[in-house]
Parts: sequence; structure tokens; C-alpha cells
Amino acid sequence: MKIGILGSGQLGRMLALAGYPLGHTFTFFDTAPNSATSNLGATTLATFDDHTALGAFAAACDVVTYEFENVPYQAALTINSHVPVYPPARALKVSQDRVIEKEFLQGLGIATPAFLAVSSEAELHSACLTLGTPCIVKTRRLGYDGKGQVRINSQGDIAGAWRELSGAPLIVEGFIPFTRELSVIAVRSIDGTVLTYPLAQNVHRSGILHRSEIPAPEVTQELQAAAYQIASTVLQELQYVGVIAIELFDVDGELLVNELAPRVHNSGHATIDGVVTSQFENHIRAITGTALGSVEPRSRSVMYNLVGTLPDLSRLTALPNAKLHLYGKEPRAGRKLGHVTLLNPSQRDEQTLEQLLGGVSVAVVTPTS
Ligand code: AMP
Repeated sequence: MKIGILGSGQLGRMLALAGYPLGHTFTFFDTAPNSATSNLGATTLATFDDHTALGAFAAACDVVTYEFENVPYQAALTINSHVPVYPPARALKVSQDRVIEKEFLQGLGIATPAFLAVSSEAELHSACLTLGTPCIVKTRRLGYDGKGQVRINSQGDIAGAWRELSGAPLIVEGFIPFTRELSVIAVRSIDGTVLTYPLAQNVHRSGILHRSEIPAPEVTQELQAAAYQIASTVLQELQYVGVIAIELFDVDGELLVNELAPRVHNSGHATIDGVVTSQFENHIRAITGTALGSVEPRSRSVMYNLVGTLPDLSRLTALPNAKLHLYGKEPRAGRKLGHVTLLNPSQRDEQTLEQLLGGVSVAVVTPTS
């Protein structure tokens, strides 16, 4: 099949790299050229409100998917009038606005942090009183990697938070004293089969994912089943096709949903080397109407992002259990340039890698309960 991808970054790259061996070809649509995918297919350069360009792009594809959740809803509808868009456009609508997303989840009986929508400084004050401090104020739309959010520790922080974020519609969330951050990558096929990968345990640094381990340690059958229940409820409701990532807070064994990403996700990158069928391959299988592949882990796998600058690659590839994935992008502060996955690492392997990545050793978070 000819698969169109909206967006042309590293997620598009890894989707194409997973899809070529299955016999598919790829073409991309983006607003600017991106070296991550420039060797993997032609790119249509246009804006997402250019419905003529979107229509022409769609007409040349058998199916279209997307690698980022801020694709405008109308753009997805235009494409869908020519060829199927998976995941369905409603998934964009739900996940693009944190208030709509939380209302959607709560409507399905799924727990989230307490929240209030605010649109004035007075409302922000009253929301902080209602929810208590600390709390977190975030832009409703377009936040990523911890951008567009401010933690409010006391009433004294409110004016500053308002100055920083006002101008965009906001949400205030109660602060969750989580034991750890988890995510579940799930996939639903056109015939409605849902599979969930083993839970991933995630550690962020400066708002960016730093380390992701699959399977997460100390996951009971009940916890994995709870994650499956959340994922299957969401996917069924959305009549979803493809991979979704659901970011979770584990609070002493109870799962709260932080957010949904209707796409392949950074916390699923370890599935390339550590699981029988990667999140990328299963997304391609789902959207092309092919049977899903096994999500059984092949080994414990720990992924580290390579952000901003690359470490000494010859030393990195000298680690026998390290699998390196570079995205072909120029180094720049805060930019994800690649990732490395360690298979069945010892603590010493992880320390060696942490040193190569910049010397700061991160504590491996284990649940306290
Ligand atoms: P987000 O952009 O919503 O994924 O938030 C980025 C990070 O901020 C999360 O991965 C958490 O570490 C933290 N965070 C976000 N919302 C909350 C919350 N309600 N309570 C505690 N920590 C949060």
C-alpha cells in the first residue's frame, strides 16, 4: 500500500522503517522539509489549511496516518473525504484540548487528576483554592514535553503563572503525588482487536522523556489488567485504528490518566528491539488491515533518549547490548536526535550509558508500595 504520513519527523521515519519490509511505500506531508524522512519518500510541502494540497496528497495514497496530534481536525476531515485516515479524526479532537480530553475520560469512568478550566486571573485564583496547592496550570492546547505549564506551589505564584500563560485557554490540575509515571502503548485493529504492550515506566528530565523501561518493574497482573481496561475502553469508544499511547500516573497501584497521544510514542521506542512486534510495525499493520503482531517482550529493555548533542558514538556502539537509533537530524538544544535501547542491562551497563550521556546518574525509580 501507499501510506501517507502527516508530519515528517522521527516518528514518521520509524513508521516507514517498519513499513518498508512489509511491502509498503511512504509519502509525507509537512510544512517544512525534515531530514529525518528525506530519504524515505517524497514530501509534500504545504500548510495544513491548504485543502487543495491535502486533497492531492490524499488522492495519491491508499491510507493516511499522522505522527503528531496537533494535525488540525479539518485537515483530517479533508483527507478522510478521499481515503481513510487512521487513527480517526475524533481522536485528534479529543486529545488536542486537555479539558475535552479529561471530560471524555471521566465520561468513560476513567480516573484523571481533578481539573478546572480557567479563562481569567480571578478564575485561576478560585481554581487554586478549590483544587488546593500545589497544583499545575497548563495551556489547554499545544503543550508538549512539559512546555506551556507552570507549577503553583502557593497563592503567591498565581500572578506569575497568569503572566506567563494567559492569552491561551488554560486548565488547572490538582497535583498528583504519583509513585511513578507509567505509560501503556495499545493498538486496535480494524476488526476491533485490542492489544496492550507491557506497561512502560518513564523518567523525565527537564520535561523531556529521559529513560523508559519495558516491562516496567513490579507490575502486578491487576495493574497490567487495569491498563488494558483503560486502553480498551478508550479505543472502543473512539472506534480507533492504530497505536495510542496513554500516559499514566501510578498512585500506590491506582492508575490516573495524564494524557492521551493518538500516535506512536517516545515511551514505546524500546519495543523496536525489546518486543516481538514494535509499536511502529503494529501501527502499520493496524492501518493497513493486517493482523496485529505479538506484543510479547523479547527481553527487558531500557531506552534512553539522545537529546541536544550526541555522545561518543563509537563508545556507545561498543556496548554489546546497546541498540542505537539515530534520526538523521542536526544537533540543537532540546532536540531529540536519537535513542539507544539497552537489552537486559545490568545496573553497571546503565551507569556506563548514563556516563556516556553526560555523567549525571539518574536514580532508577522503583515503586514504594
Ligand atoms: P504533561 O505535558 O501533561 O505530560 O506533563 C509533563 C510532566 O509534568 C508529566 O510527565 C509529569 O511529570 C508532570 N505533571 C503533569 N501533570 C501533573 C499533575 N497533575 N500532577 C503531578 N505532576 C504532573
